[in-house]
Amino acid sequence: PTQLVWFRDDLRTSDHPALNAALSSGPVIAVYVLDQKSAGIRPLGGAAKWWLHHALADLRISLGQLKIPLILRQGPAAGIIGELVHEGSVQAVHWNRRYGHAERAVDMQIKQDLQARGVHAHSYSGTLLHEPWELLTKNDTGYKVFTPFYNALRDDEIRPPLPAPQAQEPLPDTNLPASDELESLGLLPALDWIDGLAAQWGPGEAPARQRLEQVLESIAGGYAEHHDRPDLDGTSALSPALRWGHLSAPEMWDALGRLAAENPKAAAGATAMRRQLAWRDFCWHLYYHHPQLPERNLRAQFDHFDWAWPEQDPHAAEQVRLWQKGRTGFGLVDAGMQQLWQTGWMHNRVRMVAASLLVKNLQVHWKVGERWFWDTLVDADLASNSANWQWVAGSGADASPYFRVFNPELQAKKFDPQGSYVARYAPLAAEPIVDLKQSRQAALDAYEQMKLIS
Ligand code: FAD
Repeated sequence: PTQLVWFRDDLRTSDHPALNAALSSGPVIAVYVLDQKSAGIRPLGGAAKWWLHHALADLRISLGQLKIPLILRQGPAAGIIGELVHEGSVQAVHWNRRYGHAERAVDMQIKQDLQARGVHAHSYSGTLLHEPWELLTKNDTGYKVFTPFYNALRDDEIRPPLPAPQAQEPLPDTNLPASDELESLGLLPALDWIDGLAAQWGPGEAPARQRLEQVLESIAGGYAEHHDRPDLDGTSALSPALRWGHLSAPEMWDALGRLAAENPKAAAGATAMRRQLAWRDFCWHLYYHHPQLPERNLRAQFDHFDWAWPEQDPHAAEQVRLWQKGRTGFGLVDAGMQQLWQTGWMHNRVRMVAASLLVKNLQVHWKVGERWFWDTLVDADLASNSANWQWVAGSGADASPYFRVFNPELQAKKFDPQGSYVARYAPLAAEPIVDLKQSRQAALDAYEQMKLIS
């Protein structure tokens, strides 16, 4: 009775509910399907593809140690899972749930198809701290505001991490469905830009675990003081590991909780980092309850804002180009955009300041920034990216008020006091592309205008 584990955003072998359940039911084979074709699925960005390529190579090794073959396929998932069930005489398919709108539609369809063929389909909670339909307000709706959401998270309701799985008996080679070559998935971009990514990151489970150890030992304790400082190694930098599921959120939550309990000196920092981790769940819950989050303003009022679009406005197009290249003339923004381009990651404080310059001082639609981040971040996910962009734009549910416009020069003084972050990523000063004071006033005027129309 062969069991098929379908890996998606959970490229790990530890704390993997679907894998553990499958291993307790029979011989296991595993599959990853690169699906960029099913309706509504947003194709991966360039940096994400690079990450995925290496993450799959790593997963194949980890699964190999458990004597589980990993099959790679490319195309619409429904057809491929159906074929594999047939080719591998599969009795049951197991997966950890996904929460994107299009992804859920695909999964529901596959579940129905499998059940119609008498094949079991089992789904598990493996990615979030809480299922989005479990943590609701008194009115049975999803939370729209973070603080009450966070206060409603109950430690004892978060799934404890699972024991490490044991290797199975090796499977005979006969009847094993064929796998595509990793290289044939075409995930590696031709551009030399990936050298910077490779210098910075090791995608996969072991590097994620090592980083977690380092975070627990020397970063989490100081997180409350240092998390806003891009010039320091003061945050976990585990966002890509969480995005691709090399590390599960419940495992990180649990580890931080133990640190807080065992080491009073580290407690405040570990608790603050836990709170930040809860933002990830919050974004996914928001997206689950509002599937239009990546596409539409949550506050419909903002549909009336006079956003600039580079496609329609050559001046905006040039400004967006300079923003993307890190040549706005504002050191902190330019350093952030260079860090993003060079390493596929940007510090959270700088993401906020860079995003604010684009949507407020330049009045460019947040979707333009969201798309650029989608293509260049190794941690890009639809929920966190669009929720945070809408938060900065003021169009989100629990958004920063529109009139709070970050001043990139003051932010730099405060959070990069020696200027070492800017010196590292944007050593050459450029001429500012916009007057901060005037553009701030113009943004506030446009906001007042929007309120009059809507
Ligand atoms: P830490 O400070 O160590 O936090 C621990 C973990 O908590 C992170 O790894 C992450 O998983 C989660 N987290 C922290 N802050 C947030 C947040 N504001 N929203 C959601 N999760 C959070 N994060 C992404 O994971 N993917 C994105 O595509 C993404 N896009 C963003 C776009 C903008 C405009 C902004 C302002 C923020 C975005 N973030 C995104 C959130 C945040 O910037 C990153 O999660 C964080 O910088 C990752 O660094 P870290 O792992 O060191 O975080």
